[in-house]
Amino acid sequence: MRSAYNGGAMGGRAAGTGGGVKSSAPVDKEVDYANYFCTYSFLYHQKDMLSDRVRMDAYFNAVFENKHHFAGKTVLDVGTGSGILAIWSAQAGARKVYAVEATSMADHARALVKANNLEHVVEVIQGSVEDISLPEKVDVIISEWMGYFLLRESMFDSVICARDRWLKPTGVMYPSHARMWFAPIKSNMADRKKSDLDGAMADWDNFSDEIKTYYGVDMSVLTKPFAEEQEKYFIQTGMWNDLNPLQVIGTPTIVKEMDCLTATVSEIEEVKCNVTSVINGQNTRLCGFGGWFDVHFRGRKEDPAQQEIELTTAPSEQHCTHWGQQVFIMADPINVGEGDHLNLGLVMSRSKENHRLMEVELECEIKEASGNPKESFKKTYFIE
Ligand code: SAH
Repeated sequence: MRSAYNGGAMGGRAAGTGGGVKSSAPVDKEVDYANYFCTYSFLYHQKDMLSDRVRMDAYFNAVFENKHHFAGKTVLDVGTGSGILAIWSAQAGARKVYAVEATSMADHARALVKANNLEHVVEVIQGSVEDISLPEKVDVIISEWMGYFLLRESMFDSVICARDRWLKPTGVMYPSHARMWFAPIKSNMADRKKSDLDGAMADWDNFSDEIKTYYGVDMSVLTKPFAEEQEKYFIQTGMWNDLNPLQVIGTPTIVKEMDCLTATVSEIEEVKCNVTSVINGQNTRLCGFGGWFDVHFRGRKEDPAQQEIELTTAPSEQHCTHWGQQVFIMADPINVGEGDHLNLGLVMSRSKENHRLMEVELECEIKEASGNPKESFKKTYFIE
């Protein structure tokens, strides 16, 4: 999933912007509900997710091509939304499905379950998965918890909590593995953003002149802070976009791999990595970076999937998803050539203001194929 507020092209997932929730402090549930959950209580938003064919096909095939994991088994659907994954689990032969949903979407899920004659198998429970209690442990946990660039929304925390409390020691996670990817891109977005920034500054200058002329107050001391604020939000805020695969100009690198059966909250609270990407386009412009994710349904080692399924959100001309790709644009593009090495240091942590949003610190050192250093820079981005 991914929910509603965003500045991006896809009209995406939820996460809210307000918050006041410190990542180390306990989460204020009312604030979290207002900012994050409320969007999920609208059918229009669930419909966005249900209309994503890549997402739907992956989960559908994962369930129906691996019926052995479901037939006669108990299943927990974390964040059932409309109830779709719970219904499929029941149709694949589950004995009992607990479908947990925090929002009042639970009422619609209950109606859908009933209309599909599955109320003897699927029990919809409204509540946070952290708070509810089940009468038994389950064989399978299924959930669609992925946000932009995988971790935005921090919903995997809830899946971890559910897993540690309710999954049998022999249980299986759907999906079972997740990866985050990062790659250098070319794009005209940097130019667009630059002209947005120039426009905003021209507007400020007019505004400042008018205040001086009409009201006798000199605003010029605020010009620099305004420019810095604009730079921060216009240039350095992460955006969503549908990248064309041809915009990717270097080798995509994996910045994080996760086994959903063993991953811990501390492992995802801060994701740190050093990777190298090699430019594979001739004389091109490095304008920024694209981030995306994939998840796999492989079952577990002792109880593998009969048919492994992949859900990827990589740039593709044929298979776009509602997640698109997270785009990190640079204000000043850099000329790069084939074989240039980009040594990348990436630290992604949760925003102090809202634990469901992310900050990404990026350090990039560019070396020519010969090893000569070319350029280096450091930037901080927000994924909001
Ligand atoms: N499973 C559905 C919906 C995915 S969107 C589908 O695949 O179409 C994720 C859903 O999880 C949202 O409806 C959201 O309200 C719910 N959710 C997120 N965190 C939750 C939590 N801690 N407890 C219960 N529900 C949660």
